[in-house]
Amino acid sequence: MVRSIAAWTLALGALALTVSSALGQGAPEVTLTRLECGTGQDRRVNDRFSDTWSYGDLKVPFVFSCYLIKHGDDYMLWDTGQAMNAKGGVAPKVSVVDQLAQVGVAPEQVKYVGISHYHGDHTGQLASFPGATVLIGRGDWAAITAPKPAPGVNFRPFAHWISGGGKIEPLAADKDVFGDGTVVILNTPGHTPGHHSVMVKLKESGTYILVGDAAHFHENYQTNGVPTFNVNRADTIASIDRIKKIEKAHRATVIIQHDARDVEKLPPFPAAAR
Ligand SMILES: [Zn+2]
Repeated sequence: MVRSIAAWTLALGALALTVSSALGQGAPEVTLTRLECGTGQDRRVNDRFSDTWSYGDLKVPFVFSCYLIKHGDDYMLWDTGQAMNAKGGVAPKVSVVDQLAQVGVAPEQVKYVGISHYHGDHTGQLASFPGATVLIGRGDWAAITAPKPAPGVNFRPFAHWISGGGKIEPLAADKDVFGDGTVVILNTPGHTPGHHSVMVKLKESGTYILVGDAAHFHENYQTNGVPTFNVNRADTIASIDRIKKIEKAHRATVIIQHDARDVEKLPPFPAAAR
């Protein structure tokens, strides 16, 4: 009897060790940092962002953001913002590369660049990361590599990857980037054919969803509003619905990347949420 209790104690001890290493020290740290990736401006939303013209004269401050995700020793960028020479007063004041330098990250250290979709304000500085594997929706990649890309498809920053010089992974569905569920790219089509969002699970701060342009501002997210220039209305509403359900099930913090009111949901640069 004494012997069997001793054996049980040993077995339980071993189990406790296994569990603690699975939950604790062994798991890579994940952090999330917001980068300013363009110069914001006020926009009257009815002009382009509502196909039902539902918002009267509502104007919202529109920002441009991208994000650095650290997973252990690996870095992933989510979206690359406006180009440094973008016209119309929206060009960034500091490049993504220079912002990364401020947190001690060189462009060569960026293993993945996740692109929510092919528009110019999300792809402008992609060419600064030729060594990265680009993760982008299959529908968007097809539009980028079409013989004559449609207006609004910002294919030029992808030249290095189109030519075969860089690694590209077109996504047909979701993608668990690091295989441990902490960074999952979500298939949320509608704004563009291959539009994706990303869910990031942090140990202290909980789950975040960066929605790309699945919605551009709070009112559109709350009332299922659809911009006039989206490629598929039904897909847009289904994608907003999916994000809302994930938000509810995981008590997630939803960040609408263009909405200035969501900037403060993450610590101010260079601090990271963890
Ligand atoms: Zn867009």
